[in-house]
Amino acid sequence: MLELRAITAGYDRRAPAVRDASLTVAPGEAVGLLGPSGCGKSTLARVAALLHRPDSGTLLVDGAPVRRWRHRAPRAQRTAFGVVFQQPRLSADPRLRLTDLIAEPLRATGRREAVPGRVTELADAVGLTPDLLTRRPHEVSDGQLQRACLARALVLRPRWLICDEMTAMLDASTTAALVAVVEDYRAATGAGLLAVGHDQTLLDRWCDRTVHWDTVTAA
Ligand code: ADP
Ligand code: ADP
Repeated sequence: MLELRAITAGYDRRAPAVRDASLTVAPGEAVGLLGPSGCGKSTLARVAALLHRPDSGTLLVDGAPVRRWRHRAPRAQRTAFGVVFQQPRLSADPRLRLTDLIAEPLRATGRREAVPGRVTELADAVGLTPDLLTRRPHEVSDGQLQRACLARALVLRPRWLICDEMTAMLDASTTAALVAVVEDYRAATGAGLLAVGHDQTLLDRWCDRTVHWDTVTAA
């Protein structure tokens, strides 16, 4: 269970971007979070993924309250989350080849021996050919880079996936392909999903339920 309870968060304590937001994702559930641009969805998603410390409120992961965020969070908690953002180029290290981008979380957690097998498996799943894997982020398209970002998010087999406008920059066929990869991953692992977006039709199609921002925030 992923439970956001009365979360207030932002970048300025006097004017928080998120006020008193509550949202629950059950194990294995896919929840879509819908709302207009700038309402605070990304900020809340970053709190849920342990990437942004809230000013107040509680995040419970499988019943355990999270007390530390970002690099201070225990590794076991951090690695339970796979996160994909809207802007693949901003989140990708320009020096890394796609293969190393995908493998980095494995190397960072001391699982080098798993790299070749897991990278091959994921590249196949997201539809990246071996020649694309040797390229750097600026040498591939947005769609190809987002495929690599999704593979990277799945490489440690997270129990929770947070997709923040994952397909907003992509064409219809790449969108469908990446949504299918997430669906296959969830079917195989029972992972939960929080998908942030602004397109209700798309969220309704790949989520069990879609909640509107207005019903998430009390303020
Ligand atoms: P959404 O995902 O719904 O578009 P965001 O969570 O990105 O909303 O943004 C909520 C508010 O917080 C907006 O007013 C935005 O300008 C502001 N904001 C987002 N990121 C930052 C940041 N890094 N620094 C300061 N303000 C930010
Ligand atoms: P950065 O944003 O570069 O990681 P900070 O050191 O300001 O730099 O904070 C890192 C993160 O660590 C913050 O986003 C916050 O979530 C978390 N954090 C900061 N101070 C504490 C603290 N005293 N206890 C737990 N977590 C903290």
